[in-house]
Amino acid sequence: MAILVTGGAGYIGSHMVLHLADAGENVVVLDNLTTGFPWLVDHRVKLVEGNVADGELVSKVIAEHEIKSIIHFAGSIVVPESVENPLKYYKNNTANTRDLIEAAVAGGVRHFIFSSTAAVYGMVGLEPVAEDAILSPVSPYGRSKLMSEWMLADVAAAHPITYGVLRYFNVAGADPQMRSGQSTAGATHLIKVAVQTALGHRDKMNVFGDDYPTPDGTCVRDYIHVSDLVAAHGLLLGHLRGGGESITVNCGYGRGFSVDEVVSTVKSVTGIDFPVEHGPRRPGDPASIVAGADRIKALGWVPKHDDLAGIVEMAYKWEKYLDTRNDRPSIL
Ligand code: UDP
Repeated sequence: MAILVTGGAGYIGSHMVLHLADAGENVVVLDNLTTGFPWLVDHRVKLVEGNVADGELVSKVIAEHEIKSIIHFAGSIVVPESVENPLKYYKNNTANTRDLIEAAVAGGVRHFIFSSTAAVYGMVGLEPVAEDAILSPVSPYGRSKLMSEWMLADVAAAHPITYGVLRYFNVAGADPQMRSGQSTAGATHLIKVAVQTALGHRDKMNVFGDDYPTPDGTCVRDYIHVSDLVAAHGLLLGHLRGGGESITVNCGYGRGFSVDEVVSTVKSVTGIDFPVEHGPRRPGDPASIVAGADRIKALGWVPKHDDLAGIVEMAYKWEKYLDTRNDRPSIL
């Protein structure tokens, strides 16, 4: 029996694979390698190259490896890109997820864990947001994920499958043992961009908007270490395997940092004062989004890396490691 991890060659998926393999689980990765890298996949697990929407392939993998649980990471994740190219998001995050769920149900998969996002909430004010808050996403990205959440709920009501939905806040950092980290080519996420600027890979970085209704005018986000995030998936999987009901949880620490605070943390951790320009807002950005994390904590989740400087430190270390590789993913 094995667990199927889609998108296991990507940033969060590769950390999930490490977590599962470290726990002695059998894992099969399905990844089309458009944004992931085979060298990020732990050598203890099998990598199948292909698409989650390829029903024939997925059915074969499910049967061959007796898959009873799927953890589905494969998807697209860049908010501004989803504004420019919504159909890519409705294909990769919604239509493909539908096809994967269909193969899962047909193949007798019992548990399905889905990477969702805090972007399903939309504009939420400055208070931490709980899972039962109104869902009103402001970007195609958020909507494409929310549609998949709804699909899962409908399917679980009709078929013998339970699901766990994890709504990610802002994931950052790298495996403390430096076996994986954020390696996506052309990454746009704040901490990644800031450490690359510190290393001189970019001339300067931009802060998108400083007129938001937040304490310093820049957007506030809840930054969570990737290892704590994958541990939350492990916990949910255990809950479902133990007969627990389907569940939706926020994954964040319940505290926020502004863009300016993140930038100064990167400057102090790296000891490098790099150029930063304050400019216009970026489309699709809510002012503030911080997790109400009571539900996941009630399941027994105890974060080990709730420390912004530590998260930045690991992201910085990983970025320096990438510089030593001949096949370093392109930066821009
Ligand atoms: N951001 C920024 N400059 C950058 C990248 C991001 O000011 O080069 C801001 C972005 O506008 C948002 C926050 O940092 O307010 C977090 O953005 P990110 O893309 O990391 O994650 P998101 O919250 O969009 O998932």
